[in-house]
Amino acid sequence: MNNVGIGYDVHQLVEGRKLVLGGVEIPHSKGLDGHSDADALMHAICDAVLGALGESDIGHFFPNTDPRWSGAPSRVFLQEAARQVVFREGRIVNIDATLIAQQPKIAPYIQAMKVNIASALGLNVNRVGIKATTNEHMGFIGREEGIAAMAVASVELPELATV
Ligand code: MG
Repeated sequence: MNNVGIGYDVHQLVEGRKLVLGGVEIPHSKGLDGHSDADALMHAICDAVLGALGESDIGHFFPNTDPRWSGAPSRVFLQEAARQVVFREGRIVNIDATLIAQQPKIAPYIQAMKVNIASALGLNVNRVGIKATTNEHMGFIGREEGIAAMAVASVELPELATV
């Protein structure tokens, strides 16, 4: 059977933090605030994969109260999501994601993000789609107070017996 999952994440933009999206450090005056590296794109993709499995979200697997994940690279979370798929004898078919950021320009970094995400999930890079849009200067994203990401994942799983 083929399942889909959806993921959404948002982090606040603050001074004094690195901006890391899709595992790429992007030069910018502000970065995303959070317990881990606050990589909203990887977090949204992680939740999409977990969602396709009917699993709990990223916070269940990696509580933000656990000091082990303080400053953690979010690739670790994606690797765990991929491990959950393998554990169920499943296979990720594809990922598609959209970043919503007013600034900075994301386009120059998309290919590197795809490579990072594909390698963390054990996928061919052609199975990862990433797009970026601004918020047309509206709302908190438009005011550059935060960056959001949404993602879907398609995961093929063995047929389950109905009990
Ligand atoms: Mg997050």
